[in-house]
Amino acid sequence: MNSKQCMDIYNKYFMQLYNPVDFIPVSGHGSRLLDVDGRDLIDFSGGVAVTALGQTNKILVDALVEQAHKLWHVGNIFTNLPQIELAQKLVDNSCADKVFLCNTGAESVEAALKLARRYATKTYGPQKHKIVSFLQSYHGRSLFTVSTGGQAKYWDGFYPLPPGIFHAKFNDIESVRELVDDDVAAVIIETIQAEAGVMLIERDFLYELRKICDAKKVALIIDEVQTGMGRTGHLLSYMDYGIEPDIICMAKALGGGFPIGAMLAKEPFAGAFQMGTHGATFGGNPLAAAVACKSFEIINTPEFLANVKKQSEVFFAELHKINQEVDIYCDLRGKGLLIGAELKDEYKGRAFEIVHLAAKHGVSVLMASPNVTRFLPSLIIPLADIKEGMQRLKKALFAFKTAAE
Ligand SMILES: *Cc1c(COP(=O)(O)O)cnc(C)c1O
Repeated sequence: MNSKQCMDIYNKYFMQLYNPVDFIPVSGHGSRLLDVDGRDLIDFSGGVAVTALGQTNKILVDALVEQAHKLWHVGNIFTNLPQIELAQKLVDNSCADKVFLCNTGAESVEAALKLARRYATKTYGPQKHKIVSFLQSYHGRSLFTVSTGGQAKYWDGFYPLPPGIFHAKFNDIESVRELVDDDVAAVIIETIQAEAGVMLIERDFLYELRKICDAKKVALIIDEVQTGMGRTGHLLSYMDYGIEPDIICMAKALGGGFPIGAMLAKEPFAGAFQMGTHGATFGGNPLAAAVACKSFEIINTPEFLANVKKQSEVFFAELHKINQEVDIYCDLRGKGLLIGAELKDEYKGRAFEIVHLAAKHGVSVLMASPNVTRFLPSLIIPLADIKEGMQRLKKALFAFKTAAE
């Protein structure tokens, strides 16, 4: 089957949610993908922040295959060795005391919101149930998490939304003070609003937010689904800010490409989940946990995390270089290997076209908003792939510019 035939079937049989690029990957290694037509592509999109260690990483493949020969799934009437090992790693290397394992980012956020609400309403009374989130934030697509997210376009057609959710302005501490009263159970925030155009949190803002949460007895939830597992050069992004959250959401890169999520919490919040109050059939599945353990071991070393910062410098420098030639972006920003490039005014609203043109030229990039191209390469992408990918991107950007004029 060639890519045209694949796309015809795709369009006939799938609900049209994604508009994928015209490149159907059949195999991959590291940051390179091959498609049904034998074309090659350099991956700057990393499965949307999932394949932090590239495609078919040998250590992860071995961990998966080894586990596949031992035990696949037992359900939560049992515990199992890989999930015990993973829980220890997550708790011993973060500020959390306890963990809940699930499968996706939305599930980890859903669990975090439920935990915070249950703790607050059981401890202080049913009035303390409000959730404060931020405009433009992204927390997943279940009804509770999408309502918590701050993008009204994702609410369209899904009303009525669950009540009790309010949105402050990112990096605007006064807007937080206005909303966080004694009836708030949780504030949820990202340190980088990736889906809002890669907007970075301000250090002082996060520090003040922590103080407000302490004063009002509010659980501070940090959504690390995209920023976690080394993406910013820290195991979890909050570790760079000198504060600790009460609850942490993880998924995406946690399994390096195998679906797994986790919600971590400190005491006393963690104690609000008791026998029967929450659950997930696949949560803690041994295949997922075995891969996540290996992935965690590789990423959580000082050398690895320091190298992410070096990789980031190289990536920024190369991106800056091509932009000097093409002159299409007005701002390059981000942290570690979560990078956004904002289009100049004359190209606003067209980041989407660049995604498709880039793929045509053999490199995959993402959007972070209609005006921002987003890069989420593997944390171990080879230098040669960064350079070659940038040359391909440069050609795509010139083609975009020509088409735009
Ligand atoms: C991707 C993402 C989610 C949702 O994760 P899913 O696995 O798609 O449910 C939640 N929060 C953030 C910050 C994300 O980037």
